[in-house]
Amino acid sequence: MNTLITRFNGLLISKLHFRVCLMLLAGLTPISTILYYDQVYAVASVSSLVVSYCLVVIFYHCDYFERQCSHLAREVVKDPLTGAYNRRFLMEKLVECLSVFRRTFDVASVISIDIDHFKHINDQYGHDVGDDVLCQLVSTVRARIRHTDRLCRVGGEEFILVLPSTNKFQARVVAESLRERVKKTEFVNGLNVTVSMGVSEVKTGDTVEKLMKRSDMALYEAKRSGRDQVIAS
Ligand code: GH3
Ligand code: MG
Ligand code: MG
Repeated sequence: MNTLITRFNGLLISKLHFRVCLMLLAGLTPISTILYYDQVYAVASVSSLVVSYCLVVIFYHCDYFERQCSHLAREVVKDPLTGAYNRRFLMEKLVECLSVFRRTFDVASVISIDIDHFKHINDQYGHDVGDDVLCQLVSTVRARIRHTDRLCRVGGEEFILVLPSTNKFQARVVAESLRERVKKTEFVNGLNVTVSMGVSEVKTGDTVEKLMKRSDMALYEAKRSGRDQVIAS
């Protein structure tokens, strides 16, 4: 349906026009059936009536499928547990950030986020509580970030936050404020949770792998330095 409409768009026929045409066709066919009804046109009239009702049915179903398609397109880039974006989306977003940087030198940054001692939470309180902590972490981070920033879940308790048009010094400020916010938040079962973070910005000659590797190394350094820390590389 979308392809069809796109093709019509090339002929300057909008979606609205397309629908109006369909409705007119559906309306005019029964009228012509009444006007021309006699022995000779009987069969043709009845079949045109059927066609017009089929068109109306198609019209409503197209709308339904269109809504379903856009819903699916949104779902396919989301992590089902937390609602954060998934790895597939992250890869596309990073490729986009690198290409924007190559064209305009508009720098983007990434923050690797990992929950500290998450295994203890699972072991002590159970997997369900662990899942709730993950969801609460996502909503805590989302409440602080910009509309254009993207939080992606890349593993069990590992996330990457993509910040377009943000250098590593600005990203570090964001990361520190997130770290403090998470630390102050009371999680399910009154739990206190801390996170470690590694910050990195896009550089000349970068690939997605190099960028992710740098923020991962910085995260590793934050863990090594005692956790609940932000390290920028
Ligand atoms: P560190 O501070 O070094 O990061 O330690 P950690 O315990 O957070 O890290 P580790 O990699 O040892 O453990 C991660 C745990 O995350 C192990 C795994 O059972 C748990 N996990 C992975 N995916 C999920 C999930 O979807 N839900 C829950 N509840 N737990 C998960
Ligand atoms: Mg961890
Ligand atoms: Mg981990």
